[in-house]
Amino acid sequence: MKREIYMDYAATTFVKPEVLAEMNPYFTENFGNPSSVYYISRKTKMAIAKAREGISKIINANKDEIFFTSGGSEADNWAIKGVALANKNRGRHIITTKIEHHAVLNTCRYLENHGFKVSYLSVDKFGKIDLQELENLITKDTILVSVMFANNEIGTIEPISDIGKICRKKGVLFHTDAVQAVGNVPIDVQSMNIDLLSMASHKFYGPKGMGALYIKRGTKIDSLIHGGSQERGRRAGTENIAGIVGMSKALEIAASNMDEERKRLIYLRDKLIDGLLKIPYASLNGDRTCRLPGNVNISFEFVDGEIMVMSLDREGIYVSTGSACSAGAVEPSHVLTAIGLSEKEAKSSLRLTLGAKTTEDDVDYVIKVLSRRVSDFRKSNKRWNERSH
Ligand SMILES: *Cc1c(COP(=O)(O)O)cnc(C)c1O
Repeated sequence: MKREIYMDYAATTFVKPEVLAEMNPYFTENFGNPSSVYYISRKTKMAIAKAREGISKIINANKDEIFFTSGGSEADNWAIKGVALANKNRGRHIITTKIEHHAVLNTCRYLENHGFKVSYLSVDKFGKIDLQELENLITKDTILVSVMFANNEIGTIEPISDIGKICRKKGVLFHTDAVQAVGNVPIDVQSMNIDLLSMASHKFYGPKGMGALYIKRGTKIDSLIHGGSQERGRRAGTENIAGIVGMSKALEIAASNMDEERKRLIYLRDKLIDGLLKIPYASLNGDRTCRLPGNVNISFEFVDGEIMVMSLDREGIYVSTGSACSAGAVEPSHVLTAIGLSEKEAKSSLRLTLGAKTTEDDVDYVIKVLSRRVSDFRKSNKRWNERSH
């Protein structure tokens, strides 16, 4: 059998067998609508309550502050549009960053077409925002700051506690897209002064199409999905019970061995980075240490990222050029250009993200194959051959 190595855990993960086992009964025998009153419905209602409580504890929230959604994109849309609509009489200015996921960026663009003003914070060469720039940008008109917890392309972890402190001091709401961070790094919404936080189950070994938005008690926010009174009247629609139970189980597993798994992934990540940086004219994108445990993003001069992804695919190695959402698009990554890469440099980068099934053997193998592939690719490149090395 052909060897297959999946190194795209930032795009999505498989569902862990223990998670699937927990979900299964909620497709078959425990199918009752939680809004009904008979026994099988009470069982599903109780399962949802238990999941909500479990998830809330892991980020140090209260159980009534967790609202289930159809994923990370819906949570981001809800946080930003919901706060904008509910607070538009107080102000119409939103601050975000240039390196957000498109679920945040395109939501902000939409609001710009509807009378809101959005400022996009720049980042340094490691992908970090400037706290002073943030503080200077906040005016009386500012209602919301939205900065991602950790970047999905380069893995940089933002100074969330400092951002939270500034927002609290200035009296503006703070939303963070924590889709890449939840389950990978410790999060405490209270000590970090976070008002709204988005998560997505399929990034931590739960099912796809399932997410949640944490909304701090007392936060003024409108609903986006109107209908029945599910989620305490704030997000209508019959609950995805199996999804909710699965997400909760997946997060429980992630939290229970987070320290251990984080150490293991950091070791593998650093080994992969060191191995790939031995390739001539290779450079790391993002911060060397303040980065997600499983994220590697490297540019290889004179190599086309898209062609490399397809070439590795034929070897059974699955990696990405950036975010899955923009793969296939001809545009260079907005994240890589924001950290100062030229269009050419941005298009010569690869993202390799490690996770639960990654072994040291996989890392060694990928270093070997990639070194050979990069070298072969360059040999067929006229500009490379004309240059003296
Ligand atoms: C994956 C991802 C999203 C989107 O989540 P979905 O559940 O796929 O809608 C949003 N933000 C970040 C940072 C992501 O990595």
